[in-house]
Amino acid sequence: MGTVSIAKTTNGIKPALIQALNLIGGLNRFVAANDRIMLKPNLNGTEGLTDISLFESLIQLLSDLGAKNVIIAESTFGNADMTDMCFLKSGYAELAKKYTIPLINLNRSQYIEKEVARPLVLKKIRIAKEVFEVDKIINVPIMKVHYATGVTLSLKNMKGLLVGEEKRRFHEVGLDKAIVDLNTTVEPALNIVDSIHCMERMGPRGGDRVDLDMILAGEDAAEVDYVGSQIMSYSLEEVKHLKYYIEQHDVDVNEIMIAGESLEKVKRQFKKVQMDTLIPGNVHIHEKDACSACMNALLLSLRFLDKPSRDNVNVYLGSKVDIENVNAEGYKVAFGNCCVYGMGFNAHVKGCPPYPFDLKRVLEEHE
Ligand code: SF4
Repeated sequence: MGTVSIAKTTNGIKPALIQALNLIGGLNRFVAANDRIMLKPNLNGTEGLTDISLFESLIQLLSDLGAKNVIIAESTFGNADMTDMCFLKSGYAELAKKYTIPLINLNRSQYIEKEVARPLVLKKIRIAKEVFEVDKIINVPIMKVHYATGVTLSLKNMKGLLVGEEKRRFHEVGLDKAIVDLNTTVEPALNIVDSIHCMERMGPRGGDRVDLDMILAGEDAAEVDYVGSQIMSYSLEEVKHLKYYIEQHDVDVNEIMIAGESLEKVKRQFKKVQMDTLIPGNVHIHEKDACSACMNALLLSLRFLDKPSRDNVNVYLGSKVDIENVNAEGYKVAFGNCCVYGMGFNAHVKGCPPYPFDLKRVLEEHE
């Protein structure tokens, strides 16, 4: 079993990153100068992104090591244009330019279909071809709560290696087990969790910022995530994908060693996502195989409905929504492009996923 390090950023982000890496053997234990290296941040949206100073520090350390063949790669929710937008707004496009590092929009990539060894739900997974053109992946997620998976840390961040439609398929077959199958198929060489500015109460977007001012690092994604979940005060029952991964890969969590700060000292009770408090009484959600991005957009949309304008609003989302239910009583709204409009719906909120203000606008337009 390996070691997971915890380093506080009290003396700066780069010193903390160096400390976190030294505590697990140093960066050169995981990558060599002549390796082709992919850096995988979490840029899924415009908030709650991997801290750019941390990421820049990592680029500098790789440069010091002599690594010349480095790329940054990510695919966000929605389409390739959304990913471009995230690259621009996050400052990562500028960062990549500054260090002349290719920034790859994986939503424009071709995929390679890989067989999953001992699959839980997916025999094959379509993964961006660039993943197989590098020697090492350094996974750099940010610590957040997640309305569908409990938390999002290292294992969940790997989902950004999928191309377009494959992300939706993960939701169709069951997200937690599909995440395990993906991580069985692709393993990062190193995981560095940005726990500087984290997110609680809601996630992966629309939550509250919580500053833990620290960095976690470790070789094994599940070990890092186990320590991360403990820090966030989440049990394994609340983080199903981690639980399934641990069972599938016989990870002995009692053997994980922690270096640096003590777990008890840095632990915090993260505010969990309370779905029932986010959904007004007059709104009923009917979801079948919708992406987390769409559900997240809907939950954000509901925050902007200041007062109920109708007694009974039914919101449908996902490509496999039960058409029979569309004949149910009340006002019926199709949410998202893949929820097919024209089957008895009263309104359609377009987008993949829709913008959070659009539900309010569409409801007002149809009043
Ligand atoms: S509309 Fe929503 S559920 Fe459908 S593919 Fe887009 S994000 Fe996913």
